[in-house]
Amino acid sequence: MGKAISVLLLATLLLSACSSGNNNGELTQGSATQAPAGTQTAAPAATAQATAGSTAAPDMSPAPSPSATVAPAPTEIPLLYHMNKNYDIVPNEEGTDKKVVLLSFDDGPKDAEMINALMDTLDKHQAKAIFFVNGYRVKEHPELLELLHDRGGIIGNHSWDHIVLKDKGYAEVKKQIEDVQSIVKEITGEAPDFFRPPHGAGGDVGKQVAAENGMLYMTWSVGSLDWEMKEKDTGKTETLVKNVTDQLHSGSNILMHELPWTVEALDTLLTTLEGKGYSFVDPRSIELKMR
Ligand SMILES: [Zn+2]
Repeated sequence: MGKAISVLLLATLLLSACSSGNNNGELTQGSATQAPAGTQTAAPAATAQATAGSTAAPDMSPAPSPSATVAPAPTEIPLLYHMNKNYDIVPNEEGTDKKVVLLSFDDGPKDAEMINALMDTLDKHQAKAIFFVNGYRVKEHPELLELLHDRGGIIGNHSWDHIVLKDKGYAEVKKQIEDVQSIVKEITGEAPDFFRPPHGAGGDVGKQVAAENGMLYMTWSVGSLDWEMKEKDTGKTETLVKNVTDQLHSGSNILMHELPWTVEALDTLLTTLEGKGYSFVDPRSIELKMR
């Protein structure tokens, strides 16, 4: 596909995404500053359990013994990739597989059945994904965020109310973003490392607040267009797979949503991507600083 066509297509996608018409300027990075990348480890949320076990007698914990088999340390995920200004995933070094895609699901958490089905399919393909959640949904159903986290979903911040942030003032955007950091940390023990603005429209202020919180700001580079589909539509799996494969390229940052037809299409989509030689990047292997 020609570059001009890709840019046009991407611009069209941004305009149509999440049914918002105001997405101008999101393709360029502007002058937003980036915070230093935090350390990224895959340590489980040990802090979340701290209070529960705090009344246990001290001798309940196993004493370390030199002869005992040492449990493996939490897996360190090497930072092999970074995100470029098109929100694509790029290897840091020559020799690292560049034929990867990043999977993401926005606008949850909504429903345990859908979450479990998504995670079952991701597990089957040994794939990780970012789930960009809205704070108001997390507040309504904290148990669903817990489920996502417990099943290995990587939690991303999608603002509290799913509003267009780019025209809002600093204080409001800060609250929209940081309240999500707080509630996710409260429930999972870890604040999100990734931020995606609703409607792809964070503006400079969204980029700034994301950076202040040490998060990697991203929109996407391949839209599944699942948000345009309706329950009554036929052939949704084929349409979704075609929408993705038509735009597919190395490092594709694929936007999907927690929607029933996306849940249904996911296995076919992942099988198709694997058939084309792509693998699924672990979000934790992506540096939190864009370059
Ligand atoms: Zn959204």
